[in-house]
Amino acid sequence: MNNHIQPPKRDPLPSVLPTEPLLLMGAGPVPIPHEVARANGMVINHLGAMMNHIVEAVKEMSRYAFQTRTEKVLGVAGPSSAAMEMAIANLCWPGRRVLSLVNGTFSGRLAEMATGVGADVVRLQTEVGLPARAEQVAQQLSSGRFDVLTVVQGETSCGVYNVDLPAIVRLAKEHGALVVADAVCTLTTMPLMMDQWGIDAAITGGQKGLSSIPGVSLVAFSQEAWQAVERRPGARPHWCLDALRAQRFWGDHEYHYTAPVPGILALYEALRLICEETLEKRFERHLHSSRALQAGIEAMGLRLFVASPHRLNSVVAIESPKGIDSDRVRAHMARIYGVEIAGAFGLDIVRVGQMGEQCRPHNLFKTLYAMGRSFQREGAKMDVATAMTTLEEQLAAALGLYCEA
Ligand SMILES: *Cc1c(COP(=O)(O)O)cnc(C)c1O
Repeated sequence: MNNHIQPPKRDPLPSVLPTEPLLLMGAGPVPIPHEVARANGMVINHLGAMMNHIVEAVKEMSRYAFQTRTEKVLGVAGPSSAAMEMAIANLCWPGRRVLSLVNGTFSGRLAEMATGVGADVVRLQTEVGLPARAEQVAQQLSSGRFDVLTVVQGETSCGVYNVDLPAIVRLAKEHGALVVADAVCTLTTMPLMMDQWGIDAAITGGQKGLSSIPGVSLVAFSQEAWQAVERRPGARPHWCLDALRAQRFWGDHEYHYTAPVPGILALYEALRLICEETLEKRFERHLHSSRALQAGIEAMGLRLFVASPHRLNSVVAIESPKGIDSDRVRAHMARIYGVEIAGAFGLDIVRVGQMGEQCRPHNLFKTLYAMGRSFQREGAKMDVATAMTTLEEQLAAALGLYCEA
């Protein structure tokens, strides 16, 4: 037995994890409601009457979230990137011309994926911190034929909101191109009208705007997109991400692969809570919460990275003051205050998420205070008191939150 590998001795998870989990105020995953956590702790058979009922309900509630009547709503066992890949791999192939609007990491990822399946990709790259403009898109579209346009509604990596999205979709449709729109960080945090705007493939993940768990994602295909999926020529490059095969489970309730049951149950609860809240109220909550936080951040003396007309409210990017090590700031926030915010890929910014459960007043107070004190500790001049008062006043004005003595 001596040369056999011996079983390692590991501590049970409760003694590894902190007793009080960190408050996740970064760019996702975000905190989940109790109902979602409870649902995630269950397993039922992945096939059969009960699962069919769940799947139909998830599709119906997803249609509300996406604002679409399409029948082709598919879940994906995988990160949001897998849902992006399902949309791209089923609509792009060698010979297809793709126009990718690139503002940062995630919109760039769509372009990489389209390139990966052999499409001919043209990237329309915006300057850092700026949205794609309808005029630029019109100009690019007039330069040649495009079959597919890819775009993100919100670019999480730098906090840019593609405000021209409805106009861009209209232009692409007039041109005859299908539109793939990534709404991973934005869905249910701000309006997205899939049918009304004409989006052909809308994508979201679990762990951001929906406040569910990571690992189960969604794609909704328009009828026109589905026709393209069906006539995709050649060998299908993916098996798990093949939309036609996935439709066996999501459409016909037959076996494709074993569905991620707990994640789907969690998604059911997350979507149910969204339907209960209603999109109108949810958009308002996100808007007020993010704006109050932004006002507090500016009152503290920090600068927001993106100008207000195209600032993404779902993920707020904040410039790190000159000479301050923002990694140390974030580490201090986590260690002392139990609050986690995000850094960034390559830019000297930190990012605070405003998605789902992150948009609760108690989370804002905790985050803003922790951030102010932690920047101060690293030597930045911060007016924390004014910031906190500003946040409180803004929330009070927006939400009727009256603080009694
Ligand atoms: C987070 C994010 C993704 C990627 O999500 P994963 O779940 O990490 O794959 C894609 N697009 C946007 C806009 C995002 O915010």
